[in-house]
Amino acid sequence: TTAPPPPLHVRDVTVRFAGLTALDDVSFTVAPGSVHAVIGPNGAGKSTCFNVLSGLYRPAAGTVHLGDTELTRLAPHKIAGLGVARTFQNIVTTQGTVADNLMLGRHALSRAGFTASALRLPGARREQREHLARARELAELTGLAEHFDAPVAALSYGDRKRVEFARALCLEPRVLLLDEPVAGMNAAERVRTAEVIRTVREELGLSVLLVEHDMGLVMRLADEVTVLDFGKAIAHGTPEEVQRDPEVLRAYLGT
Ligand code: ADP
Ligand code: MG
Repeated sequence: TTAPPPPLHVRDVTVRFAGLTALDDVSFTVAPGSVHAVIGPNGAGKSTCFNVLSGLYRPAAGTVHLGDTELTRLAPHKIAGLGVARTFQNIVTTQGTVADNLMLGRHALSRAGFTASALRLPGARREQREHLARARELAELTGLAEHFDAPVAALSYGDRKRVEFARALCLEPRVLLLDEPVAGMNAAERVRTAEVIRTVREELGLSVLLVEHDMGLVMRLADEVTVLDFGKAIAHGTPEEVQRDPEVLRAYLGT
């Protein structure tokens, strides 16, 4: 068994865009091995938060740490290399087979290894085989085993979204960031994906930070929830706690 992932600390993070404060002094911690959800109305700052965590946006103030390692000013590939991988809200691949896409994820994990394999250096073929075996395992874990050699374009929308998920897992992350993993899915695909997220967390022992609109999914999956509204964290707690919080009800129902 592997060591639990370090906690992910978001401390006093502020992000501004020309006159708009997209995140206003936001703090929360993703506990090791937990599923932590960030919820909130459209425009609340959820994707902005992910973009800070993955190094795409630099905050005007505040820090992000994985354990004792500061991530705040690192380039996205460095952050991914330290074990924080993400999926995007609206990006779904349509190129190649499932296997091709997962091998691209493995490629990002070990550029050196793949360069060696392109040059036919000793050991490279074995390494390639090991990457393929691991890609197959991760396809199995994400419910894509039967589609491993199928073109992604031939898969259902739900399966294609899970290819993105599996590709992020190919980086062997310790913290996985999922931006609206069930957006656009039908009810059956949502249930399936929730099961996959739970299995992945248990089997791989990683932490999951998830942005999601689907309250049912959040309530079933999350250990802890942070609620954003107009860039501010207005509530933290278990799903049951935040559901009863008067400020949260006001933000969602506009009363
Ligand atoms: P959510 O994901 O919760 O729907 P976002 O984080 O996408 O919200 O957006 C939060 C706010 O920041 C919105 O008002 C949005 O228009 C604004 N915003 C997000 N990204 C940018 C950007 N790159 N430039 C300008 N404004 C942005
Ligand atoms: Mg968003």
